[in-house]
Amino acid sequence: MGNDIKIIAMIGGGYMGKAITAKASDYGYTVRLYDIKLEGLDKLAKRLNKQKQKKEIPGEITIHESISEAVADADLVIEAVPERLELKKEIFSQIDKAAPPHAIIATNSSSIPVSKIEGAVERKDKVLNIHFYSVMLHPMADIMRGSITSDETFEKGKKWIESIEFFPLVVKKECLGFVFNRVWRAVKKECLKIWAEGNADIEIVDKAWQLWTGMGFGPFKAMDGVGLDVVYDIEMSYYNESGDPKDKPPQALKDMVDRGELGMKTGQGFYPIKK
Ligand code: NAD
Repeated sequence: MGNDIKIIAMIGGGYMGKAITAKASDYGYTVRLYDIKLEGLDKLAKRLNKQKQKKEIPGEITIHESISEAVADADLVIEAVPERLELKKEIFSQIDKAAPPHAIIATNSSSIPVSKIEGAVERKDKVLNIHFYSVMLHPMADIMRGSITSDETFEKGKKWIESIEFFPLVVKKECLGFVFNRVWRAVKKECLKIWAEGNADIEIVDKAWQLWTGMGFGPFKAMDGVGLDVVYDIEMSYYNESGDPKDKPPQALKDMVDRGELGMKTGQGFYPIKK
């Protein structure tokens, strides 16, 4: 386990919250999980606690009915609620009021720098962006400071990421998209343009990517996995920030989202999804 962090509070137990909980659980952390919807979380806790017992891994997974209860003895709180600034501010404020003074508060947001959330808390030196990718596939997480995050907080966060055998992608100076989201975004944006402007077929682009990188799938297949609604929202958040018409995602992508062609989750995206 990393440094003096032993207890994690996970606020939001959706796709990312569950995956982060499972990963931290495997590495000996106690995780206190809170979500407004509790369905299915007991089952998850039972399964993870059983695994812990079997493998003699320390710590426990507990489910809570309020934020104040979940964060009461936490050393690190990770927020993974939906990507809405006002909601994240409200959650940060509730966490700040109830968590012990030493606790670090991190957001898993895909696009909101923690500097835009930190106004909601007193402990502005103890906030971080810790942004995970697909937890099962990509053992890495971006880590970025707020306006006055202390070196101590940053180092603790970095060591915690390393303690679960993930690679910390250190952002030295605040930017939109952290480290790898920015790289992935550049690829994604050009691929979408090639497709929407009719320059080449998606199969050709994906094949080129596979031959170049040696990966098993290309960007269009990856976007189907992420969900085209999520891809569209993220592209729109970059566009809203820059106001540059070149950043606006193609209308053809919006049309797919409106038709419910969201990728893997609906069975049809850029490719038909085999069940
Ligand atoms: P999700 O919709 O699967 O999960 C969000 C969870 O938050 C839901 O279970 C919901 O019930 C819960 N929630 C809503 N309001 C709440 C509240 N007031 N208090 C407590 N819980 C509440 O979303 P997700 O994909 O897990 O994304 C969560 C965050 O992680 C977002 O900020 C997203 O940008 C970020 N993220 C997502 C991905 C991804 O691939 N999906 C990757 C990296 C980061």
